[in-house]
Amino acid sequence: MSVDVHVHPWTRPFILKNAPILKACRFFNIDKRLLPKSIGQLLEEMDESGVEKAVILGQDTHATPNPSFRNYSIRNDDLAEMAARGRGRLLPFAGVDPNAPTQALKELKRAIGKLGVRGLKVHNSANSVYLNDKRKMYPLYALCEEEGLPILFHTGTTALGDCEIRYSNPELLDEVGQEFPDLKMIMAHFGWPWMDVAIAIAMRNPKVFLDVSGWKPKYLPSSLLSYLNGPLQSRILFGTDYPMIRHRDWMRDFNETLKPRLKPGVAENLMRRNAENLLGS
Ligand SMILES: [Zn+2]
Repeated sequence: MSVDVHVHPWTRPFILKNAPILKACRFFNIDKRLLPKSIGQLLEEMDESGVEKAVILGQDTHATPNPSFRNYSIRNDDLAEMAARGRGRLLPFAGVDPNAPTQALKELKRAIGKLGVRGLKVHNSANSVYLNDKRKMYPLYALCEEEGLPILFHTGTTALGDCEIRYSNPELLDEVGQEFPDLKMIMAHFGWPWMDVAIAIAMRNPKVFLDVSGWKPKYLPSSLLSYLNGPLQSRILFGTDYPMIRHRDWMRDFNETLKPRLKPGVAENLMRRNAENLLGS
């Protein structure tokens, strides 16, 4: 059984009203007719592929200056409701909009206390806020550090349209790691095309994890594999980026192309153990 740390609980109707996600569908060459219809379908697909648990990611862009992200927010209450349908299998990471910093902090506190979220997700390119923005981001970092909650950061390039990747450069997280040494961070998509920077930051900060989502296993860079088989074997996490990559496709590709190249025990770490250590589940 495995734990997918990077799932978007997006359904077809939600995607169809979001131009930036439709551009991602084109990027991933997705047949829009096959997009998931419901959270029930996500759970069925997880069952079919032996995925026991998944982190479902929130998102909030209600105060973002970028009009393309007007329909992009998911209410944390709705996210919690989806998680409840998974009966413990779907772990919600809240979304808040750092463009409204006071409200964001209040909402994150509420989501932790009332909704039982297990972490925070931020997509700084969608929000047009730099990862190291002291006024907009640091209060959220302080709260998550204090609560022991991980933050999953989108890092590196994005398939989403209508936004800029400079906000999500993983290099900006180096100073965050220095300022908040106990903050658990996940750099999604291993920060590519700034992968070497993301790896360097993980190597100097034991609380930093990387996820491999958004990539078919056969395309993962071989230099990443040497870290996965080596010094970062307890800090690289399985993630799909569902529904951009579906579980069945990811697993088939993993079994055929990546698993045979992993040292003993590393597949287990990647697919389950590292996420369990991080999430405490
Ligand atoms: Zn994603």
